[in-house]
Amino acid sequence: YLVRAMPLRDTNGNIVKWYGTNTDVHHQKELEKQKDNFLGIASHELKTPVTSLKAYAQVLESMFKRSGDFKNADLLGKMNKQVDRLTNLISDLLDVTKINSGRLQFNNSKFDFNEMLEEVIEDVQRTSFKHIILTELDFKKDIVGDRDRICQVVTNLLTNAVKYSPDANEVVIYTQDHGNFVQVCVQDYGIGISPELKDHVFEQFYRVSGNREHTFPGLGLGLYISSEIVKRLGGKIWVNSVEGKGSTFCFSIPVIEH
Ligand code: ADP
Repeated sequence: YLVRAMPLRDTNGNIVKWYGTNTDVHHQKELEKQKDNFLGIASHELKTPVTSLKAYAQVLESMFKRSGDFKNADLLGKMNKQVDRLTNLISDLLDVTKINSGRLQFNNSKFDFNEMLEEVIEDVQRTSFKHIILTELDFKKDIVGDRDRICQVVTNLLTNAVKYSPDANEVVIYTQDHGNFVQVCVQDYGIGISPELKDHVFEQFYRVSGNREHTFPGLGLGLYISSEIVKRLGGKIWVNSVEGKGSTFCFSIPVIEH
């Protein structure tokens, strides 16, 4: 039960009565659980056919390439990209169900932080004409952590920076060494976020809507997942932004060297 109560006072300020409401949140919690269960089952079921679709499309693409049929190879290449988008959406949904049920797992290993960043940049650069510039590489150590999950955070920030700056031709990324912490910032010259909406962007399924000349695809999960990952790593994630000028998303995580 959710109990809300408010005192009624006499002129001397003494409490004479309590007003209150008693809300049964059990039903609400049950619905929430059913929603999470459904999301988990649905995304799991979607994953299997999409995985084989990807395998077939890849085989066909290389078959066409080998036979010199570049027109069809190009079509299959486009299909592959769309299947990748679908795969990413499904894996975001799966991650959310894992987070909500406390099943998000971390596999730690020692890795080269800069090499990881360069890999992500190369990956995102392949799908964008925008110039992704790595300016400072202040941090030069190996760290211990879940490389894939950290990759995921950087990828989310970079793809957002590219997506939400349709008229800019560059995105900047830099790292800073803060001793026990490493900080990564991704700066864009895009649409920006208004001050009152800034903190909401890290919420589950939150998307800024409004009358904009552009519409951007997405489920509103990337930043939520990123912030949960960063939190689990013992770090922080935040954004500085000026509407119409651009945003800088940063996260900082503790450095464990072994
Ligand atoms: P999605 O991009 O799928 O909507 P995210 O969780 O990644 O979901 O982002 C949530 C919302 O935050 C977006 O819908 C967008 O309105 C806003 N946002 C995220 N990154 C940026 C950015 N770099 N510039 C402006 N707005 C952004």
